[in-house]
Amino acid sequence: MPADPVAIAQDLIRCPSVTPAEGGALAYLERVLSAAGFRVDRPVFSEPGQPDVENLFATIGSGKPHLVFAGHTDVVPPGHAEDWSHPPFAAEIADGWLYGRGAADMKGGIAAFVAAALDRLAANSLPGTLSFLITGDEEGPAVNGTVKLLRWAAERGHRFDACLVGEPTNPATLGDAIKVGRRGSLSATLTVRGRQGHAANPQWADNPVPRMVALLAALDAEMFDEGTADFQPTNLEITSVDVGNPAFNVIPAAATARFNIRFNDRWTGETLTARLRAILDGASPRGAAGYEIVFEPFNSPAFLTDADRLIGPLSDAVAAVTGKVPQRSTSGGTSDARFIKDYCPVVEFGLVGATIHQVDERVSVEDVRMLTRIYRGFINRFFAG
Ligand SMILES: [Zn+2]
Repeated sequence: MPADPVAIAQDLIRCPSVTPAEGGALAYLERVLSAAGFRVDRPVFSEPGQPDVENLFATIGSGKPHLVFAGHTDVVPPGHAEDWSHPPFAAEIADGWLYGRGAADMKGGIAAFVAAALDRLAANSLPGTLSFLITGDEEGPAVNGTVKLLRWAAERGHRFDACLVGEPTNPATLGDAIKVGRRGSLSATLTVRGRQGHAANPQWADNPVPRMVALLAALDAEMFDEGTADFQPTNLEITSVDVGNPAFNVIPAAATARFNIRFNDRWTGETLTARLRAILDGASPRGAAGYEIVFEPFNSPAFLTDADRLIGPLSDAVAAVTGKVPQRSTSGGTSDARFIKDYCPVVEFGLVGATIHQVDERVSVEDVRMLTRIYRGFINRFFAG
């Protein structure tokens, strides 16, 4: 009898694994995967000042090629349970929808891949290795999850050839898009200092606000690039401007602003920070001495998966089930794929993400079944390639 992805998704949703709590979700996966012959480990990672987090690594088969499915069982809090039309951890099905926190992000995706893997293993032998890399720390600080789990697996000799992340990548309908890369993200705080004084006597003060306005105007006007075949143009958003001044008649001593840049693969963290300093130097009447800029720790470079072994079979599997050729997308925010790409080529494809993190998060039951068929087709194509 084929594995039932909807029943597995329901079992997972009923585990209240609000980050960083394990909630029984990893224990459930351990039971299901061990019963199918997987070797399962449950490493717990710690960091001073952060909650300990449980993770899971399960593997079956041996040798190359090695395909790893990556995901997370932790979920964001449900908010007020009474606002939900079906309780957030009850996994009720109504009118073809499976309701619950994590249904789309991303227990439904995990359930589909588990069912696809179990079906494949029951049907025929595996010429290679298939693994699950599941963290309980994606929605939280993400320090005791995928980063450490990847290192943990590498230290134990696991070498991945390809990774599929089951995050809900489809904006509206199943088959819309596979994520073949991500834009990079860089944030910074800009400060301009002056001298406080009375607004009536500006000659005795030094107003930092007009200088800050000039710097921000230059940043906002910059055309970093026109985009590439795979990426949108690099974009800077000013996210905060602050002088903390409640008075009309006081010239403030300092002005602070924050901004975030989502950038494409024409830039690295280094080339982008150099460009930003050049823009600011040019717009600052006092040059580099006229402002201070502090960049946030940088860990999100832009990347693009260039792997026909991965993108081709996945795209074909999506088309075979949905009848649509998925768009190759690099839009949206970051995910754990940004860490995985340092180990092997990675693509992302999962359910429809329209309701994630919302009240009444839900997925179409039919989508969960279709995604299972897509994953099954992908596994077959990957190991046949
Ligand atoms: Zn997620």
